[in-house]
Amino acid sequence: MLNHQEALELERATARAAREGTTIIGRGRRKADGVRVFAVASSRDATRAYLVAVETGRLVCECPSRKVCKHRAIVHAALVAEATARRVAREAAEAATRRESAPLRSNTRPFSLYR
Ligand SMILES: [Zn+2]
Repeated sequence: MLNHQEALELERATARAAREGTTIIGRGRRKADGVRVFAVASSRDATRAYLVAVETGRLVCECPSRKVCKHRAIVHAALVAEATARRVAREAAEAATRRESAPLRSNTRPFSLYR
């Protein structure tokens, strides 16, 4: 959970990322331990990207910033969007299952295709 200061830093970094058009240019997993990593383009140097690792419960960026940087902010936003999409898909699947199973549970009489 973020404290007030961290939440404020995250908000500012997210705004900075949006303003400067910071983008995620790659996604993958670190070979050594399977941790998810995101490559975020540097806004100062087009040939450089910073790696943000999704370690247990926190995001670790390799850039020199000591505060919440825009690289971590944009990855945070991407992870929140992923989690939201997963939740929406799960809820839709659950709703579909409820719709499909209700008639079968309530009606088990044999039926004929011919009248
Ligand atoms: Zn960074």
